[in-house]
Amino acid sequence: MGTVYLNGRYLPIEEATVSVLDRGFLFGDGVYEVIPVYGGRLFRLAQHLTRLEQSLAGIRLANPIPREGWAALFADLVARNGGGDLSVYLQVTRGVAKRDHAFPAAVSPTVFAMTSALPERPVQPGVAATVARDIRWDLCHIKAITLLPNALLRQQAVEAGATEAILVRHDVVTEGAASNVFVVQGGAVATPPKSAQILPGITRDLVVDLLGSAGIRCQERLVTQSELRSADEIWLTSSTREVVPVVRLEGVAVGAGVPGPLWHTVDRIYQDYKQRFREGRAD
Ligand code: PMP
Repeated sequence: MGTVYLNGRYLPIEEATVSVLDRGFLFGDGVYEVIPVYGGRLFRLAQHLTRLEQSLAGIRLANPIPREGWAALFADLVARNGGGDLSVYLQVTRGVAKRDHAFPAAVSPTVFAMTSALPERPVQPGVAATVARDIRWDLCHIKAITLLPNALLRQQAVEAGATEAILVRHDVVTEGAASNVFVVQGGAVATPPKSAQILPGITRDLVVDLLGSAGIRCQERLVTQSELRSADEIWLTSSTREVVPVVRLEGVAVGAGVPGPLWHTVDRIYQDYKQRFREGRAD
């Protein structure tokens, strides 16, 4: 098993323990990030650190480590776990204190980081998704560890034989239980705009930029449930799964029921970019 980082120490994961009074355990009072690593290099590190700062500010928790410190910590952790391709999971909680909802006066945050293997790229791309009512809170732009609604929604999707739940609030698409959503209709690409109803996905932003550089405009605008259900293509994006084509929605084929032509284009552009990054030719 791997080496993890916990509160200033590197140790085997079996030896990393946290108090039962940790507010992450008792209240889900913390935030997290997941950063892919390709060829030992942290992908979109600056963007992930900016989002981490925003998440910490969103829960009124001071950032315990400056940017250079995070970068050094991750580089050290990646090296200790053999480098190459993997992902870094990082979590900061408000720390250990007597159980009380209000914030404790003086407490040090708990900082934890570990690496995991990246999921295999499927030989046959294409997943099934369900549509579910977005039952989450009003601060979904904060990457909070409090993920019970997301877990319930994902579990319902899995029990229905699907991989992801695409969430809808008042008939408007927000995002997936753990991904952002893109739709294609008549060659036009759209994704919901950033707001407090969705996580500002790092992969989402990169896909919008990469599409733009390739001369393919992506509109950031509201997407209705009926547009979702009649889309020619649906894609899900996330740091570890990249761009995933949805080929069945609620048991009905999306487009021709296979990954669409624009997905093939965006996937090729994304893989090229990753390869250039891995070789140190892209940021
Ligand atoms: N939305 C939610 C709710 C998520 O949990 C995630 C990440 N797992 C995403 C979107 C995608 O974000 P990113 O591209 O930064 O991984």
